[in-house]
Amino acid sequence: MSLVDPSRVAVTELGFGEVTRYARHLSLPGFGLEGQKSLKASRVLCIGAGGLGSPASLYLAAAGVGTLGVIDFDVVDETNLQRQILHGSADVGRKKTDSARERLLDANPNVSIEVHDVRFDSSTAMDIVKSYDLVLDGTDNFPTRYLSNDVCVFLKKPLVYGAISRFEGQCTVFAPHLGGPCYRCLFPEPPLAGTVANCSEAGVLGVLPGIIGVLQATEAIKLLAGAGDSLLGRLVHFDALKAKFREFQLQRDPDCPVCSASPKITAPVDYEVFCSSAKNSKSMNANIPEITVEDLKARLDRKENLVLVDVREPFEWDITRIPGAVLIPLGELPSRLSELNPADDFVIQCKSGGRSANAVQFLQQHGYSKVSNLAGGILAWSDRIDPSVPRY
Ligand SMILES: [Zn+2]
Repeated sequence: MSLVDPSRVAVTELGFGEVTRYARHLSLPGFGLEGQKSLKASRVLCIGAGGLGSPASLYLAAAGVGTLGVIDFDVVDETNLQRQILHGSADVGRKKTDSARERLLDANPNVSIEVHDVRFDSSTAMDIVKSYDLVLDGTDNFPTRYLSNDVCVFLKKPLVYGAISRFEGQCTVFAPHLGGPCYRCLFPEPPLAGTVANCSEAGVLGVLPGIIGVLQATEAIKLLAGAGDSLLGRLVHFDALKAKFREFQLQRDPDCPVCSASPKITAPVDYEVFCSSAKNSKSMNANIPEITVEDLKARLDRKENLVLVDVREPFEWDITRIPGAVLIPLGELPSRLSELNPADDFVIQCKSGGRSANAVQFLQQHGYSKVSNLAGGILAWSDRIDPSVPRY
């Protein structure tokens, strides 16, 4: 059965052009005119117009979802284009919501596009989600993932979940009100800051969000049209290198902090300060001494006695580096402490300042007193000191 309110489907008609456009749906057994009218009557929110949101929203628009909400706060960056096919080369620097709206309306002008160019946080999430029938999670960060889960549990909206990393991805449907688990049934609390690499640090095969995002769109369409068996209570995992799909059964946690009979969490929570995101490194690192890229440049020019330690991974070092730095990847730091003299003056640097802040903390705990974090990392160095250093 479709999860769209039947009274809305009953008053929905397809126009002449729509009958032609959706002809291949109308002839599908178990879908047909009723399924198409349900899609047209439905309202779907896509959180994120990035890797997963791009293919998912394009297929949802093409399929004839009546109203598609797109929420994103970012602008298009050149490093997005390898996988975020909503956006083209000419869109670099534009708001993602602007290029998304144009591309989706071109795919299907019958769809009403609602863009939300705001930060999805505890103050905005409930209001945005409540008017939609279903939410598709296309985010790559933990604060938004936990927030969208909790808000969907509170408002009884199915959440079509997708996640990708490197060569692997997974997809499922979270909907405790329909009998399945929620995200917190599996992972009750977010990971500690700095313990999980985000997409930009870990890398991702460009076609992978295409596969997972289209799986998400498929699940959304099935739920909206009332067709087939959804991934409720099942998680599909895809390994691109092995070309293998595997399925896992998921159970509800009777002690889940948000969807159990006696939940501990009953209102939206912002996890920004706890989670691993370069944008948040400032707030979580209040007690960590920082140095700006301008200060570092001046000190290097004066040939001051300082040791610049780069804690990124070797593949990042191969892409680019700051002259004079020494490479000690964060994971090797504990075993290579003997290479660092506690009497020296250290500046620690990574890509954007998150991992290096953890390294500074670690060194402080091990008796290094003259350690500071390079704010903004090598990206800030590229922005403000040396534009020949490539951004990645
Ligand atoms: Zn739960």
